[in-house]
Amino acid sequence: MIKKPKVVIIAGGLATRMSPITDNIPKCLIDVNGAPLIQHQIEFFRERGYKEFVFCVAHLANKVKEYFGDGSQFGVSIEYSLEPNELLGSAGAVKLIENIIDSTFIVFYGDNLTNLNFDKFLKFHKEKNSQFTIFLKKRSEKNHSSSLITMNDENKIISFIEKPSVEEFDKHKHEIQYINNGIYLIEPELIREIPENIKYDFGKDAIPTLLQKDHKIYGYLSDDFYVELGRVEKYETFLARFKCRKNVLERAKAIFLDRDGVINEGIKNLSKPEQFRLIPRVAEAIRKFNDGGYLVIVVTNQPIIAKGFCTGEDIEKIHHKMKKSLAEKGAHVDAIYLCPHHPEKGFEGEIAHIKINCECRKPKPGLILNAVKDYNLDLFKSWMIGDSFSDVQAGKEAGVMTILLTSGDGSGSKQEKELQNVSPNYKFKSLIEAAEFIMLKR
Ligand SMILES: [Mg+2]
Repeated sequence: MIKKPKVVIIAGGLATRMSPITDNIPKCLIDVNGAPLIQHQIEFFRERGYKEFVFCVAHLANKVKEYFGDGSQFGVSIEYSLEPNELLGSAGAVKLIENIIDSTFIVFYGDNLTNLNFDKFLKFHKEKNSQFTIFLKKRSEKNHSSSLITMNDENKIISFIEKPSVEEFDKHKHEIQYINNGIYLIEPELIREIPENIKYDFGKDAIPTLLQKDHKIYGYLSDDFYVELGRVEKYETFLARFKCRKNVLERAKAIFLDRDGVINEGIKNLSKPEQFRLIPRVAEAIRKFNDGGYLVIVVTNQPIIAKGFCTGEDIEKIHHKMKKSLAEKGAHVDAIYLCPHHPEKGFEGEIAHIKINCECRKPKPGLILNAVKDYNLDLFKSWMIGDSFSDVQAGKEAGVMTILLTSGDGSGSKQEKELQNVSPNYKFKSLIEAAEFIMLKR
């Protein structure tokens, strides 16, 4: 068995982007549902056998020490490394602990939360004989404030640019681009490469230099949940999404619901709140899901936005009415994901830039998969319920169980006819029947 690495937690930053929340506490101690952020992560590690931690602390270091002590209260052991007043950067902080690191170690930032499978990450690192492995993800859009990474077919990193310029993006535009999640597995001999007593960052300095020197650096791709809470808005969004969840790193189960024909009576081009009518007993069904511990997430195609028949604000008003009507009956939806796109051009007043072939329009699974990332969801315990074959297809592609409501007209479109062979896991006449079934099946 491979020895579980030490986890080095970088927690010395001044956290200026988190002010005023972090004026008196370091970022790793900000509250997440009743416990400090990093405690959630430490417990996650501990349950998987990772029990040795080194905290690299500086700003408000005493608060971290006071809270965690030697770690014994939390079932782990914690050592501390205090950075001098002059902050040394992430790699500079690791240089200070050179004498207590003698085998492969993990570097983890104190404002991150992830349920990354570290055993698989480590296995990959060892199999590649890597000296430095980066947990990364595919770039979804051109984000100029982050990193730009490219790899070869063996996942060996070829280029790594921190905060790339427009020209640098352009140079790599034909390659698949990745971004750095800032979680690393590193071999101890590489610490020797970090210069002493100067500010030195992994992203800006260490990784580009190690690449130049031809060290073996690999990229590890995974869809596991990952979030960085380094900004006030991100932190607040996270808290809103994860409210009521004691264990934020445990995947939650969800019911994905199509909207038209499932929640409300299907009306062609529904664009005004007064046209919105809940189907009988839908609130009762959604309440069952709420009470049963499922998140309820609406996933809806609204091509009428791209077609120019109504605006995003009109849809907002409709959703306001939906939430209000449900609330009156004690039910709620946790989130709404909508696709405003439409692929075919030629509508008077259409919005050109969203007349595209997107990744989110059902039957594609994009809306579901985005929700899975944002809410840390368990696909195997989740369901998609819709009244058309494109709903079923989206659910199947995402990897959730599917239910077709036969009450729907399935819209009779060309696409629906093409998808007639897609078979759902179950069929029911109405949402309440589906809800009763799922509650029995649990
Ligand atoms: Mg529908």
